[in-house]
Amino acid sequence: MKVVYTPIHAKHYPPKELELGQFVPFKETPQRVEQILQSLKSYGDEFELIEPAGYGMAPIERVHTKEYISYFKDAYEKWISRGGNRDGVFPDAFAVRDFANGGNETGGMMGMPGYFCFDMTGIIAEGTFEAADLCGGYCFFNNAAIAVRHLIETKKIERVCILDIDYHHGNGTQSIFYKESNPLYVSLHGSPDYPMYWGKGSEEGEGNGRGFNINIPLPIGTRDSEYIAALKSVIDTRIMEYDPQIIVVSLGVDTFVDDVVGNFLLTSDCYTEMGRIIASLRRPTLFVMEGGYDIPAIGRNVTNVLRGFETSFQVKQQ
Ligand SMILES: [Zn+2]
Repeated sequence: MKVVYTPIHAKHYPPKELELGQFVPFKETPQRVEQILQSLKSYGDEFELIEPAGYGMAPIERVHTKEYISYFKDAYEKWISRGGNRDGVFPDAFAVRDFANGGNETGGMMGMPGYFCFDMTGIIAEGTFEAADLCGGYCFFNNAAIAVRHLIETKKIERVCILDIDYHHGNGTQSIFYKESNPLYVSLHGSPDYPMYWGKGSEEGEGNGRGFNINIPLPIGTRDSEYIAALKSVIDTRIMEYDPQIIVVSLGVDTFVDDVVGNFLLTSDCYTEMGRIIASLRRPTLFVMEGGYDIPAIGRNVTNVLRGFETSFQVKQQ
Protein backbone atom coordinates (compact mmCIF):
# COMPACT_ATOMS: atom_id res chain seq x y z
CA MET A 1 0.00 0.00 0.00
CA LYS A 2 1.27 3.45 -0.88
CA VAL A 3 1.41 6.04 1.91
CA VAL A 4 1.78 9.74 1.12
CA TYR A 5 3.85 11.53 3.75
CA THR A 6 5.72 14.81 4.07
CA PRO A 7 7.77 16.03 7.04
CA ILE A 8 6.42 19.53 6.31
CA HIS A 9 3.35 18.69 8.42
CA ALA A 10 5.49 19.14 11.56
CA LYS A 11 5.78 22.89 10.93
CA HIS A 12 2.32 23.35 12.33
CA TYR A 13 2.71 23.11 16.08
CA PRO A 14 0.99 25.84 18.08
CA PRO A 15 1.90 25.61 21.77
CA LYS A 16 -1.60 25.89 23.18
CA GLU A 17 -5.28 25.82 22.44
CA LEU A 18 -8.24 27.31 24.26
CA GLU A 19 -10.57 24.80 25.87
CA LEU A 20 -13.38 25.55 28.28
CA GLY A 21 -12.01 29.02 28.93
CA GLN A 22 -8.38 28.12 29.53
CA PHE A 23 -5.25 27.44 27.54
CA VAL A 24 -4.21 23.78 27.46
CA PRO A 25 -1.42 22.02 25.52
CA PHE A 26 -2.28 21.66 21.82
CA LYS A 27 -3.68 18.19 21.12
CA GLU A 28 -3.35 18.09 17.36
CA THR A 29 0.42 17.66 17.55
CA PRO A 30 2.90 16.50 14.87
CA GLN A 31 3.68 13.50 17.12
CA ARG A 32 0.41 11.98 15.94
CA VAL A 33 1.64 11.59 12.39
CA GLU A 34 5.13 10.55 13.49
CA GLN A 35 3.63 7.76 15.63
CA ILE A 36 1.63 6.52 12.66
CA LEU A 37 4.73 6.63 10.47
CA GLN A 38 6.77 4.66 12.98
CA SER A 39 4.08 2.03 13.27
CA LEU A 40 3.77 1.65 9.48
CA LYS A 41 7.54 1.39 9.12
CA SER A 42 7.61 -1.52 11.55
CA TYR A 43 5.88 -3.57 8.81
CA GLY A 44 8.83 -3.19 6.44
CA ASP A 45 7.89 -2.86 2.78
CA GLU A 46 4.20 -3.55 3.36
CA PHE A 47 3.81 0.24 3.23
CA GLU A 48 5.62 2.23 0.56
CA LEU A 49 6.21 5.85 1.55
CA ILE A 50 5.91 8.41 -1.19
CA GLU A 51 6.20 12.21 -1.25
CA PRO A 52 3.13 14.24 -2.18
CA ALA A 53 3.09 15.58 -5.74
CA GLY A 54 2.45 19.30 -6.30
CA TYR A 55 -0.92 20.24 -7.78
CA GLY A 56 -0.76 23.97 -7.08
CA MET A 57 -3.70 25.89 -5.67
CA ALA A 58 -6.27 24.95 -8.32
CA PRO A 59 -7.72 21.87 -6.55
CA ILE A 60 -8.07 23.87 -3.33
CA GLU A 61 -9.72 26.75 -5.17
CA ARG A 62 -12.35 24.36 -6.52
CA VAL A 63 -13.53 23.71 -2.95
CA HIS A 64 -12.81 26.83 -0.92
CA THR A 65 -13.62 30.46 -1.73
CA LYS A 66 -10.98 32.96 -2.82
CA GLU A 67 -11.59 35.12 0.25
CA TYR A 68 -11.18 32.18 2.62
CA ILE A 69 -7.92 31.07 1.01
CA SER A 70 -6.48 34.57 1.08
CA TYR A 71 -7.51 34.94 4.72
CA PHE A 72 -5.25 32.01 5.62
CA LYS A 73 -2.50 33.30 3.39
CA ASP A 74 -2.47 36.81 4.85
CA ALA A 75 -4.08 36.70 8.29
CA TYR A 76 -0.92 36.03 10.27
CA GLU A 77 1.05 38.92 8.75
CA LYS A 78 -1.87 41.29 9.22
CA TRP A 79 -2.36 40.13 12.76
CA ILE A 80 1.28 40.71 13.66
CA SER A 81 1.29 44.11 11.97
CA ARG A 82 -1.56 45.09 14.30
CA GLY A 83 0.50 44.02 17.31
CA GLY A 84 -1.24 40.66 17.70
CA ASN A 85 0.21 37.78 19.70
CA ARG A 86 2.83 35.94 17.61
CA ASP A 87 1.67 32.56 18.94
CA GLY A 88 -1.61 32.74 17.13
CA VAL A 89 -4.38 34.68 15.49
CA PHE A 90 -6.64 35.17 18.45
CA PRO A 91 -9.14 37.98 18.12
CA ASP A 92 -10.16 40.03 21.16
CA ALA A 93 -13.78 39.12 20.56
CA PHE A 94 -15.40 36.75 18.15
CA ALA A 95 -17.66 38.39 15.69
CA VAL A 96 -20.73 36.34 14.91
CA ARG A 97 -21.30 35.51 11.27
CA ASP A 98 -24.29 37.31 9.78
CA PHE A 99 -24.43 39.61 12.77
CA ALA A 100 -21.43 41.73 13.62
CA ASN A 101 -20.17 41.74 10.06
CA GLY A 102 -23.39 42.73 8.40
CA GLY A 103 -24.05 39.46 6.61
CA ASN A 104 -21.29 39.05 4.10
CA GLU A 105 -18.64 41.60 4.97
CA THR A 106 -15.60 40.14 6.63
CA GLY A 107 -15.08 43.28 8.68
CA GLY A 108 -11.33 43.77 8.51
CA MET A 109 -8.70 41.86 10.45
CA MET A 110 -10.60 41.95 13.72
CA GLY A 111 -13.74 40.60 12.14
CA MET A 112 -12.21 37.99 9.86
CA PRO A 113 -11.53 35.28 12.45
CA GLY A 114 -15.13 35.62 13.56
CA TYR A 115 -16.38 35.41 10.01
CA PHE A 116 -14.26 32.51 8.80
CA CYS A 117 -14.00 30.41 11.99
CA PHE A 118 -16.83 28.95 14.00
CA ASP A 119 -14.61 28.23 16.98
CA MET A 120 -11.05 28.71 18.16
CA THR A 121 -8.67 26.80 16.04
CA GLY A 122 -5.05 26.04 15.01
CA ILE A 123 -4.05 25.02 11.25
CA ILE A 124 -4.62 22.04 8.90
CA ALA A 125 -5.01 18.55 10.09
CA GLU A 126 -8.37 16.98 10.51
CA GLY A 127 -10.09 18.03 7.38
CA THR A 128 -13.74 17.41 7.83
CA PHE A 129 -14.98 20.50 9.60
CA GLU A 130 -14.42 23.27 7.17
CA ALA A 131 -17.01 24.27 4.65
CA ALA A 132 -16.20 26.38 1.59
CA ASP A 133 -15.43 29.44 3.73
CA LEU A 134 -15.76 28.41 7.35
CA CYS A 135 -13.29 26.49 9.50
CA GLY A 136 -13.69 24.70 12.79
CA GLY A 137 -12.07 22.06 14.96
CA TYR A 138 -8.44 21.67 13.92
CA CYS A 139 -9.35 22.00 10.25
CA PHE A 140 -8.57 24.65 7.68
CA PHE A 141 -8.62 23.09 4.25
CA ASN A 142 -10.80 20.06 3.64
CA ASN A 143 -8.35 17.47 2.33
CA ALA A 144 -10.96 14.81 1.60
CA ALA A 145 -13.24 17.25 -0.23
CA ILE A 146 -10.33 18.62 -2.26
CA ALA A 147 -9.36 15.09 -3.33
CA VAL A 148 -12.97 14.20 -4.15
CA ARG A 149 -13.57 17.37 -6.17
CA HIS A 150 -10.41 16.56 -8.12
CA LEU A 151 -11.62 13.01 -8.78
CA ILE A 152 -15.02 14.23 -9.97
CA GLU A 153 -13.97 17.21 -12.08
CA THR A 154 -10.54 16.28 -13.35
CA LYS A 155 -10.70 12.49 -13.41
CA LYS A 156 -14.41 12.45 -14.35
CA ILE A 157 -15.32 9.80 -11.79
CA GLU A 158 -19.09 9.53 -11.84
CA ARG A 159 -19.70 7.91 -8.45
CA VAL A 160 -17.42 8.64 -5.52
CA CYS A 161 -18.31 7.68 -1.96
CA ILE A 162 -16.91 9.55 1.04
CA LEU A 163 -17.03 7.31 4.08
CA ASP A 164 -16.38 9.49 7.12
CA ILE A 165 -15.50 7.39 10.17
CA ASP A 166 -13.94 10.15 12.24
CA TYR A 167 -15.62 10.47 15.66
CA HIS A 168 -16.99 13.88 14.71
CA HIS A 169 -19.60 14.66 12.14
CA GLY A 170 -17.97 16.08 9.00
CA ASN A 171 -20.16 19.15 8.77
CA GLY A 172 -17.81 20.83 6.31
CA THR A 173 -17.75 17.90 3.90
CA GLN A 174 -21.51 17.59 4.19
CA SER A 175 -21.99 21.27 3.48
CA ILE A 176 -19.65 21.31 0.46
CA PHE A 177 -21.48 18.46 -1.32
CA TYR A 178 -24.98 18.89 0.13
CA LYS A 179 -26.67 19.67 -3.17
CA GLU A 180 -24.84 17.10 -5.27
CA SER A 181 -25.51 13.45 -6.05
CA ASN A 182 -21.80 12.75 -6.55
CA PRO A 183 -20.26 12.08 -4.08
CA LEU A 184 -22.40 10.02 -1.76
CA TYR A 185 -21.45 11.28 1.72
CA VAL A 186 -21.76 8.86 4.64
CA SER A 187 -20.81 9.84 8.19
CA LEU A 188 -20.82 7.75 11.37
CA HIS A 189 -20.27 10.00 14.37
CA GLY A 190 -20.83 10.58 18.08
CA SER A 191 -23.99 12.43 19.02
CA PRO A 192 -24.66 14.72 20.74
CA ASP A 193 -21.14 16.09 20.51
CA TYR A 194 -18.97 18.58 18.65
CA PRO A 195 -19.66 20.17 16.14
CA MET A 196 -23.08 20.13 17.82
CA TYR A 197 -25.36 21.71 15.25
CA TRP A 198 -24.92 19.24 12.40
CA GLY A 199 -25.09 15.51 11.79
CA LYS A 200 -28.73 14.54 12.28
CA GLY A 201 -30.19 11.64 10.33
CA SER A 202 -32.74 14.04 8.86
CA GLU A 203 -30.01 15.96 6.98
CA GLU A 204 -30.35 14.03 3.72
CA GLY A 205 -29.12 16.53 1.13
CA GLU A 206 -30.97 19.06 -1.00
CA GLY A 207 -31.99 19.34 -4.65
CA ASN A 208 -29.93 16.93 -6.74
CA GLY A 209 -28.18 15.93 -3.55
CA ARG A 210 -31.33 14.69 -1.85
CA GLY A 211 -30.73 11.14 -0.61
CA PHE A 212 -26.97 11.36 -1.11
CA ASN A 213 -26.11 12.59 2.38
CA ILE A 214 -26.33 9.88 5.01
CA ASN A 215 -25.77 10.67 8.67
CA ILE A 216 -25.56 7.90 11.22
CA PRO A 217 -25.36 9.48 14.67
CA LEU A 218 -24.30 6.97 17.33
CA PRO A 219 -24.64 7.47 21.09
CA ILE A 220 -21.81 8.50 23.40
CA GLY A 221 -20.23 5.32 24.75
CA THR A 222 -20.71 3.29 21.55
CA ARG A 223 -18.74 0.01 21.67
CA ASP A 224 -17.16 -2.24 19.02
CA SER A 225 -20.16 -4.44 18.29
CA GLU A 226 -22.59 -1.54 17.84
CA TYR A 227 -20.14 0.40 15.71
CA ILE A 228 -19.31 -2.55 13.47
CA ALA A 229 -23.02 -3.36 13.04
CA ALA A 230 -23.73 0.22 11.94
CA LEU A 231 -20.77 0.36 9.57
CA LYS A 232 -21.52 -3.02 8.02
CA SER A 233 -25.16 -2.17 7.60
CA VAL A 234 -24.58 1.11 5.72
CA ILE A 235 -21.89 -0.47 3.53
CA ASP A 236 -23.99 -3.52 2.65
CA THR A 237 -27.04 -1.42 1.78
CA ARG A 238 -26.67 2.26 0.90
CA ILE A 239 -23.07 2.25 -0.29
CA MET A 240 -23.45 -0.99 -2.27
CA GLU A 241 -26.60 0.42 -3.91
CA TYR A 242 -24.73 3.55 -4.94
CA ASP A 243 -22.06 1.33 -6.53
CA PRO A 244 -19.17 3.80 -6.09
CA GLN A 245 -16.15 3.59 -8.36
CA ILE A 246 -13.85 4.98 -5.67
CA ILE A 247 -14.07 5.23 -1.89
CA VAL A 248 -12.48 8.11 -0.01
CA VAL A 249 -12.33 7.34 3.70
CA SER A 250 -12.08 10.21 6.17
CA LEU A 251 -10.16 8.14 8.67
CA GLY A 252 -10.30 9.39 12.24
CA VAL A 253 -9.35 7.15 15.15
CA ASP A 254 -10.70 9.53 17.79
CA THR A 255 -13.36 6.84 18.24
CA PHE A 256 -10.81 4.94 20.40
CA VAL A 257 -11.65 4.15 24.03
CA ASP A 258 -8.73 6.16 25.45
CA ASP A 259 -9.04 9.11 23.10
CA VAL A 260 -8.88 12.41 24.94
CA VAL A 261 -11.34 14.08 22.56
CA GLY A 262 -13.84 11.48 21.33
CA ASN A 263 -16.35 9.66 23.54
CA PHE A 264 -16.68 6.18 22.01
CA LEU A 265 -15.22 3.03 23.54
CA LEU A 266 -13.73 1.26 20.51
CA THR A 267 -10.77 -1.12 20.96
CA SER A 268 -7.74 -1.49 18.72
CA ASP A 269 -9.12 -4.76 17.30
CA CYS A 270 -12.17 -2.90 16.07
CA TYR A 271 -9.98 -0.91 13.66
CA THR A 272 -8.77 -4.09 11.98
CA GLU A 273 -12.38 -5.13 11.53
CA MET A 274 -13.27 -1.70 10.06
CA GLY A 275 -10.51 -2.14 7.49
CA ARG A 276 -11.85 -5.58 6.56
CA ILE A 277 -15.39 -4.32 6.17
CA ILE A 278 -14.29 -1.42 3.97
CA ALA A 279 -12.30 -3.90 1.86
CA SER A 280 -15.51 -5.88 1.31
CA LEU A 281 -16.56 -3.14 -1.13
CA ARG A 282 -13.58 -4.12 -3.28
CA ARG A 283 -13.12 -0.65 -4.69
CA PRO A 284 -10.01 1.52 -5.11
CA THR A 285 -9.79 3.31 -1.77
CA LEU A 286 -8.05 6.44 -0.51
CA PHE A 287 -7.69 6.90 3.26
CA VAL A 288 -7.31 10.53 4.35
CA MET A 289 -6.04 11.03 7.89
CA GLU A 290 -8.37 12.97 10.16
CA GLY A 291 -8.63 12.88 13.97
CA GLY A 292 -7.17 10.67 16.71
CA TYR A 293 -5.50 12.12 19.79
CA ASP A 294 -4.33 9.22 21.94
CA ILE A 295 -0.64 9.38 21.08
CA PRO A 296 0.33 5.93 22.46
CA ALA A 297 -2.36 4.13 20.41
CA ILE A 298 -2.77 6.23 17.27
CA GLY A 299 -0.07 4.39 15.31
CA ARG A 300 -1.47 0.97 16.15
CA ASN A 301 -5.07 1.95 15.42
CA VAL A 302 -4.39 3.53 12.03
CA THR A 303 -2.12 0.63 11.05
CA ASN A 304 -4.84 -1.82 12.06
CA VAL A 305 -7.34 -0.20 9.70
CA LEU A 306 -4.88 -0.21 6.81
CA ARG A 307 -3.65 -3.77 7.42
CA GLY A 308 -7.19 -5.04 7.97
CA PHE A 309 -8.09 -3.49 4.61
CA GLU A 310 -5.00 -4.65 2.74
CA THR A 311 -4.90 -8.24 3.95
CA SER A 312 -8.63 -8.73 3.41
CA PHE A 313 -8.58 -7.05 -0.02
CA GLN A 314 -5.67 -9.24 -1.19
CA VAL A 315 -7.36 -12.46 -0.07
CA LYS A 316 -10.52 -11.56 -1.99
CA GLN A 317 -8.59 -10.62 -5.11
CA GLN A 318 -6.91 -14.06 -5.26
ZN1 LIG B 1 -12.62 14.08 14.93
